Amino acid sequence: MNFMEERIVKDGIVKAGNVLKVDSFLNHQMDIGLMEEIGREFKRRFADKQITKVLTIEASGIGIAAFVAREFGVPMVFAKKSKSINIEGDMYVAEVESFTHGNKNQVIVSKKFLNAGERVLIIDDFLANGCALQGLISIVESAGAIVEGCGIVIEKGFQIGGRVIRNMGYRVESLAIVDAMDAETGKITFRVQENA
Ligand code: 5GP
Repeated sequence: MNFMEERIVKDGIVKAGNVLKVDSFLNHQMDIGLMEEIGREFKRRFADKQITKVLTIEASGIGIAAFVAREFGVPMVFAKKSKSINIEGDMYVAEVESFTHGNKNQVIVSKKFLNAGERVLIIDDFLANGCALQGLISIVESAGAIVEGCGIVIEKGFQIGGRVIRNMGYRVESLAIVDAMDAETGKITFRVQENA
């Protein structure tokens, strides 16, 4: 097991409804030493790419993406969730359905902070059905920028997102891929990954 799989086994809690709770170390209380390790690991995995910007989505992606951006020495931008329908023309907009909340949000990025030709690494905490990633990818492409890859901390491999995004031709690197989890027993099964 790699460091992320070990931490999930130690502190993750499997909830009913296919939800893995990791709020004691990742998306409520954050283990900053772990964040540093995550940043270094994504730098290692995308070392072949000339990343110029890291993009994530609020709220739980922000802390993680900050450490990744620090490793690459580039700015981090986060897409903001917005309920308003009247978005001004100086924003890139995408519609994202939330897996955890079940509602739809428009997510927006100011055109000032994403330029044509930029090489973008997209970061998020979870990959489930892939809606968040698809929204971020569409924002990058509307800007005429390039998606160099997607770095995910925990992919739930039994949901369709990973397959959909990889089939679209994007590189997705997940630190842990959960292939099965059982809310009754708490047992978590990880996919064996060569690069992990
Ligand atoms: P997707 O858009 O891929 O369906 O879901 C990704 C988003 O939903 C992530 O940004 C994450 O915030 C949230 N999410 C999805 N599954 C889980 C989960 O099992 N646990 C937690 N804590 N968040 C999740």
